[in-house]
Amino acid sequence: MTDMEELGTLAGGDTLAERQNRRLGELVQARLRHIQNPRDCKTARKVSCQINWACGFGCQLHHVTYCLIIAYATNRTLVLDSTGWNYHSGGWEEMFEPLSQTCRTATEGSVIYWPDHKPDKQIIKLASQTYSLSGPGFIPRAVPQDIAQELIHGEPIVWWVGQIVKYIFKPNAKVRAMLSHHAQQIGFSHPVVGVHIRRTDKGSEAAPHPIHEYMRHVEEYYAQLSLQVNVTERKVYVATDEKGVIMEIRQKYPAYTILGDASTVEAASSDRRYSTAGLLGIITDLYFLSHSDYLVCTFSSQICRIAYELLNTDHRDASLNFKSLDDIWFFAGQRDNIQLAVLDHTPQTADQIELRVGDEVKPAGNHWDGFSRGTNLRTNRHGLYPSFKVISRVETYKFPTYPEVKL
Ligand code: GDP
Repeated sequence: MTDMEELGTLAGGDTLAERQNRRLGELVQARLRHIQNPRDCKTARKVSCQINWACGFGCQLHHVTYCLIIAYATNRTLVLDSTGWNYHSGGWEEMFEPLSQTCRTATEGSVIYWPDHKPDKQIIKLASQTYSLSGPGFIPRAVPQDIAQELIHGEPIVWWVGQIVKYIFKPNAKVRAMLSHHAQQIGFSHPVVGVHIRRTDKGSEAAPHPIHEYMRHVEEYYAQLSLQVNVTERKVYVATDEKGVIMEIRQKYPAYTILGDASTVEAASSDRRYSTAGLLGIITDLYFLSHSDYLVCTFSSQICRIAYELLNTDHRDASLNFKSLDDIWFFAGQRDNIQLAVLDHTPQTADQIELRVGDEVKPAGNHWDGFSRGTNLRTNRHGLYPSFKVISRVETYKFPTYPEVKL
């Protein structure tokens, strides 16, 4: 694995792929700035969304992501309503940069309700948080065709969703100052592994995992890294909503420097999170998780998925820089994830299924032991198959290409 990684860097620090991806990222950000800052807000066509749903910050942020994708696909400005926000009654802009400098209200004009999105209506309103499963072709997992053609990345859909999240998740100057002060206080520096341990109220949705299941991957990461460089300190940034976890890791793994903050954990508990302290806590944790070199967490959690999405907006392809202890990556309400067989497979045991090159497979999950489970759409057989014999099909859609936006 180390040799493979080194081969990838032989072309030099800044490879063609990195330069290309950086340019595409800047292009997407410039297009978003363009649609978000119309000259005349009154006549601009808009998407109107609110953030204040009865769910956690990750779920809310992904909802706004969905709204901004609709705005990009329909050449509209997203107007975000954060009045009465359960995390912070002062609203979005007391914590984050505004999504627009020129257009922040959508009170006048003809309205239609999503998933209706007729171009002649001025405002598309998302009246409910429920994602439309029969939504148009541009909802995730679709990547803009012009971007997908040039992007060199292991998970183009994650990169695309990450670019949208990056535009939204921009802590304002006050919060940025707090984050840099916090970084100094805890000694945040590289290399560092980000670990997110989601417990408390998630228990009814996803199985909790013991500490050693996370730390096994941290140990592997550092064992491999030590083959390449001299690692003097093994740092781990731990984010969690359960009290006692950070203490337990410090006691059981004294060879590691555990960065984490009891006050953040305190504010993350299920009875206290919907508060300004809870919001600052999750912003802090998301920021440091997404600035880590490697992530160990559970993709069943929106927090873990957002951290991974943001991790992939850097110029590097970080699509392999993670271990999820449960799900594969997904976007809630997404179109079907279809994998394509790139190698034949003859079943070795009764619970395995046959694959022929070109077969379409609908995955149900990855067992992370070399095998995935899913249904071969040609044979309609459900069972296990080697994960390396399939790749995810990249879905594309002809989004507007915004030729007026130049870098
Ligand atoms: P999910 O339930 O894990 O899929 O993610 P959500 O974001 O929808 O809801 C969980 C909420 O719990 C978060 O938004 C936070 O408010 C809180 N939370 C969960 N894990 C953490 C954590 O590691 N740190 C902090 N500060 N808060 C957390």
